[in-house]
Amino acid sequence: MKTCLVFALSILVCGCGSKATTDTEFLLGTFVEVTSSDPKAKTIVFQEVRRLEKLLNFYDENSELSQLNATSDLRVSPELFELLEFSKKMHELTQGAFDPTVAPVAVLWKRAIKKEEMPKEDELQAARGLVGFDYVFLEEATRRVRLLKSGSKLDLGAVAKGYAVQRAIEKLREANVASALVNAGGNVYGLGRNGNKPWTVGIRDPRQSGRIVERVPLENKGVATSGDYEQFFVFQNKRYSHIIDPKTGAPVDSGIASATVIASDAKTADALATALVVLGEERGRQVLKNFPNAKARLIDIHGKLREL
Ligand code: AMP
Ligand code: MG
Repeated sequence: MKTCLVFALSILVCGCGSKATTDTEFLLGTFVEVTSSDPKAKTIVFQEVRRLEKLLNFYDENSELSQLNATSDLRVSPELFELLEFSKKMHELTQGAFDPTVAPVAVLWKRAIKKEEMPKEDELQAARGLVGFDYVFLEEATRRVRLLKSGSKLDLGAVAKGYAVQRAIEKLREANVASALVNAGGNVYGLGRNGNKPWTVGIRDPRQSGRIVERVPLENKGVATSGDYEQFFVFQNKRYSHIIDPKTGAPVDSGIASATVIASDAKTADALATALVVLGEERGRQVLKNFPNAKARLIDIHGKLREL
């Protein structure tokens, strides 16, 4: 049995040749990097991401999201409500592949990955019964959120990092920072240009992290990579990942090792990248038609690159 918890970035950031410097903090369970030649940038980004971590961290019982999960009925902040509405929209636009209600199943698989032990079938069955965004009721006028299935939970881990990057970029714009690259665990936004060139990120081969498959220029755009290489374990020659197919309630089995999405904002890129790992090439291509400003690169489990 083999376990892997990879914190290395799936995306290689290149600030080469400019006056920009990079600062890093461990937030939202990953490394958040800020590259900018403006000395204000790092303070603004880290402060905003720290604030959002308090709101959205599934594993912090004091976060607003945890309070919602604990009570199943809460009037939430405008920010959390907006993110839940966005999640609902992404759920619809991805044919259900993006679904934060997979939380109870994802928790069992993440525990399994840590302990290198298959989850118990009865626990999996009970958790699978709690999945379904149709049971999440969002009341716009009051911002009241109800989880109608008793015991169901929401995990915004597949969109929170991209959302935090996007909010941090808004704060940078408000402070007149013209140029920065913000990266939260492979969820990146390139604000402005890096000197006289666009920011550039490299998409890594998910099975050979030293190999760059493609370089992507990023000027006022977001990019995100998700994949089965981030957290997984192998049992009897089968790979089990932390990304769950909401339709089957099992770890993804789509033949896709990583999905990279380039979009006009980082939160769409984040949610869509996770969804594409679930959807695979054919359904992914259909779903991408709902996102005319987005492009995707899939790398299958044999290392083949596919452009969507
Ligand atoms: P990401 O790294 O952005 O792909 O997010 C993966 C995380 O999102 C997992 O660790 C789970 O917590 C959660 N997750 C797993 N499967 C899904 C899914 N199909 N839809 C939404 N969130 C998911
Ligand atoms: Mg994601």
